[in-house]
Amino acid sequence: MNSSTYYKARLARFYGTPDALSLPAVERARRILSHLEPVMVSSADEIPPQHRNLRTLFVTSFRGAPLAPCPGTRVHRCCNYYTVDLYAGCPLGCTYCIMQSYLESSPVTVYADPSPAIAAIRAQALADPLIPLRVGTGETGDSLLFDPLFDLTRRYIGELADLPNVYFEAKTKTAYVDHLLDVPQKGNAVIGFSVNVQQAATEEGASAPLRERIAAASRAAEAGFLVAFHFDPLFRMAEADYRAVAAQLAAAVPARQVAWVSLGSMRYTPGLRAHIDRPYIHDEFVGCADGKYRYIQRERVALYRAVVDALVEHFESRPPIYLCMESEAVWERVFGALPDEMPELEALFAGAPPRKEGQRCGR
Ligand code: SF4
Repeated sequence: MNSSTYYKARLARFYGTPDALSLPAVERARRILSHLEPVMVSSADEIPPQHRNLRTLFVTSFRGAPLAPCPGTRVHRCCNYYTVDLYAGCPLGCTYCIMQSYLESSPVTVYADPSPAIAAIRAQALADPLIPLRVGTGETGDSLLFDPLFDLTRRYIGELADLPNVYFEAKTKTAYVDHLLDVPQKGNAVIGFSVNVQQAATEEGASAPLRERIAAASRAAEAGFLVAFHFDPLFRMAEADYRAVAAQLAAAVPARQVAWVSLGSMRYTPGLRAHIDRPYIHDEFVGCADGKYRYIQRERVALYRAVVDALVEHFESRPPIYLCMESEAVWERVFGALPDEMPELEALFAGAPPRKEGQRCGR
């Protein structure tokens, strides 16, 4: 589905604060969403309860912390990733989405003034110019689902392009990249794609089919972007098919343009568990030290190894591959090493908080 069709079919209401409604990004969205009349409110609290859902857009200028470390966990290896809020809330409807447990009755919020976040990223990058700064917008929503409307990612990319240590990532399950392809200065901007096997399509709601995401990755790479792939969440259902996905990625994007590949297995918090009524949830999961439930360790290790082996086999040179929210025990069993012992990860993990004595999760 192209983006205009999607917005017409899925968006029913448009609210905004007075300071946001005159921002250039919002004026652009208003022109495209000509079927919706914006309603001015002083805050999201003024939106009637029956409209607080994912068919409602709420635009505001930014008011919270402009740049924050990714909420890694106490016991898992941190990958030195920062996040900025750009789009909060996502109607794509993945059955495993953690946001179901805390953003149930909220509109899709758009932080339409990126200036404070861009200034914070610049300040941090310039204060430590030898430390790579990875920062992404995909923590609280899909980075590109609403971006053809607001075109905010273009500003981040353009205004950070002169900083060689900044890797700004827009992470998506859509194929909405075409509005960005002509950005003149791309710097180290990364377009990241979550990928999964075809069998998982029923768990990913209105996300683009895998073949469309891969085609979009190919277009982004051809236009000169770095590309990332996130195998997350890996399900136990289809080890062989994950190998086939790895082969498709290698055929679509040259290894030199792959910034990184991350792997994470299906996991859930007790709060999220109550929202999932799908067959995969009845698999065998164990509680980990961070309070999340994951497949037992040997199953996760087997899944990760299968994908890593396929990536190494199919890409002409090995891209940086890392595990998301995993214990040191699992790192050692998958790679035989921790990230700070792997030369290809040195640049990505440089600046990560030092490991503390005894900071291990056996599971
Ligand atoms: S695309 Fe990401 S943010 Fe959107 S529903 Fe799926 S998991 Fe949640």
